[in-house]
Amino acid sequence: MADDLSQSKTQDFVARLSAALGPKVVSTDPAEIAPHVQDWRGRWNGSTPVLVKPGTTAEAATAMGLCAEFGMAVTPQGGNSGLVNGGVPYGEVLISLKRMNKVREVDVLNDAMTLEAGVILTTAQETADKHERLFPLSLGAEGVATIGGLISTNAGGVAVLRYGMMRDLVLGIEAVLPDGRIWNGLRGLRKDNTGYDLKHLFIGAEGTLGIVTAATLKLYPRPAVKETAWTVVNSPKDAVDLLARAKAASGGAVTGFEIVPAFGLELVLKHIPDTRDPLPAATPWRVLIELSLPRREGARDLMEGLLGEAMEAGLVQDAVIADSLAQSNMMWKIRENMAVAERAHGKALKHDVSVPVSRVAEFMERASDLARKMAPGVDIIAFGHVGDGNIHYNVTPPPGVDQDKFVEGEGLKVSKAIHDLIGELNGSISAEHGIGRLKRDELAWRKSPVEMDLMRAVKHALDPENRMNPGRVLQV
Ligand SMILES: Cc1cc2nc3c(=O)[nH]c(=O)nc-3n(C[C@H](O)[C@H](O)[C@H](O)COP(=O)(O)OP(=O)(O)OC[C@H]3O[C@@H](n4cnc5c(N)ncnc54)[C@H](O)[C@@H]3O)c2cc1C
Repeated sequence: MADDLSQSKTQDFVARLSAALGPKVVSTDPAEIAPHVQDWRGRWNGSTPVLVKPGTTAEAATAMGLCAEFGMAVTPQGGNSGLVNGGVPYGEVLISLKRMNKVREVDVLNDAMTLEAGVILTTAQETADKHERLFPLSLGAEGVATIGGLISTNAGGVAVLRYGMMRDLVLGIEAVLPDGRIWNGLRGLRKDNTGYDLKHLFIGAEGTLGIVTAATLKLYPRPAVKETAWTVVNSPKDAVDLLARAKAASGGAVTGFEIVPAFGLELVLKHIPDTRDPLPAATPWRVLIELSLPRREGARDLMEGLLGEAMEAGLVQDAVIADSLAQSNMMWKIRENMAVAERAHGKALKHDVSVPVSRVAEFMERASDLARKMAPGVDIIAFGHVGDGNIHYNVTPPPGVDQDKFVEGEGLKVSKAIHDLIGELNGSISAEHGIGRLKRDELAWRKSPVEMDLMRAVKHALDPENRMNPGRVLQV
C-alpha cells in the first residue's frame, strides 16, 4: 500500500515536471538514464525514477521547487567522474547539470570568468587560454569533470602546490537551494567581508546543501614557458628534499611535483597505448617536475642548475628535461594515466590520503611496512602530489588471492591500519576525492563529535528535510 502511494506520488511528480519543463529537460528513457546511474569504475549501480536536464538556472529552480513540493530527494550530477559514490542516485531524482554549459562572461581585467556548472574543465582551461590567461586546475578526468562537480568535491589535481584547490579558485557561486530559491553570489571580488562567506558552504559539500548552477572563477597570468623534467630518485625522502630545493631555487615557480613508482610506470607502459619510458632505469621512483615561468630567457638554465645541484647532492640519480611540448606531454601522460593503468591492472585497496609534506616519506615507509606485514605479497602503487602532501596509496591483492574478497573483506584491515597511521600523522583520509557514501561511516567516527555536530547543524539549516543527496558525506 505504502509502495503504491509512493509510486503514484512519483508518477504525479514526473507528470508535473514534464508539464513544466518539457521533454528536452525531463527524461524517463532507460537508455538515456543508464550511463548516469553507474559510476566511472563500474563499481556502483543505482537507479532513478527520472532524469532532469535543466538548460538554465530558472529550469533548475523550477525542478527543485517541484521536488520540494512533492518531498522528493535529489542527487545532482556533473560529469559522473567522482570516485566516492556521491553522484550516483539510489532512487533520488537525478539532476544532471551537463546542459548548463555556457561561458557567461570573461572579465579579463578582473582576471575572472563566469561559467555555468556543466562546463567541462578542458573548456574552462581553453576559455582562459583564449584570453591569454590560465585557469590552473588540472586533473586526469578534465575531459569529463564539470565546474559544478569540481566545486562540489573541492577538486585538487596536479597544480595545487602553486594555485591551491578548487576552493582557492572560486570567487563567487550561484546556487539553487533545496526549496527552489536561487542564491546569486556571483561576485568577482577578491575582498568582500560582508558576513559569513556562504560560497564556502557549497564548495566541497558534494551536493548535500544545494545545486551549484554557475561560478565566477579566478584567472592567472599565462606562464610564458613551462620546463618539465623527468627525474629518477631513490626514495620518497629524496623526492621531498628535492621539492624543497626546487621551491627555493625557482622562487615558487614549481607548479607540478608528482611522484611515480617504477611499478606504476610499468603498468602505464603496459596498458596505455603510445606511452614510452622517458628515462629507463632500475631505480624505484620517478619524480615529474614542472616549473612555470614568466620569461623564456633563463628558464632552461634554471631547471638545469636545479637538477645539476640535486644530482651532486645525491638526491637525483638521473634526469631528462623535455625538449619539446610532445616530450613534456608524454611525461604528463604517464602521470595522468596512472589511475587508468592501475584500474586495468585489477582491483586494489585505494587510499586518497594527505599528510604534511614533511611527513610524506615517513608515511610512505611506514604504510608500506604495515601493508606488506599484514598481507604478504601485495604490490603497492603509491603515486601523486608529493608537492601538497597528497598520495594516492593503492595496495593490490597478493597473488592468488581473490580480488573481490580482498578488496571487500580481508584487505579492509589493511585500509583501516593505513588510515590509523594517517590519523597518527595528523593527516586526512580524503585529500581530494571527497566522502560520498564510500567514506561516510568512517568519517563519522574519525572526526571529532564537535566537528560532526557543526556539520549536521549546517546541513539542517540549509536542508532541513534532508532531501539533498541524502546519505552522502554524513548521516542525519
Ligand atoms: C581518471 C580520474 C582522475 C581523477 N583525478 C582527480 C584528481 O587528480 N583530483 C581530484 O580532486 N579528483 C580527481 N578525480 C575525481 C573527479 O574527477 C572529481 O571528483 C571531479 O571533481 C568530479 O566532477 P564531476 O563533474 O564528474 O562530478 P560528479 O562525479 O558528477 O559529482 C561529484 C559530486 O558532486 C556532486 N555534484 C556534481 N555536480 C554538482 C552541482 N552542480 N551542484 C551540486 N553538487 C554537484 C555530486 O552529487 C557528487 O556528490 C579523478 C577522477 C577520475 C575518473
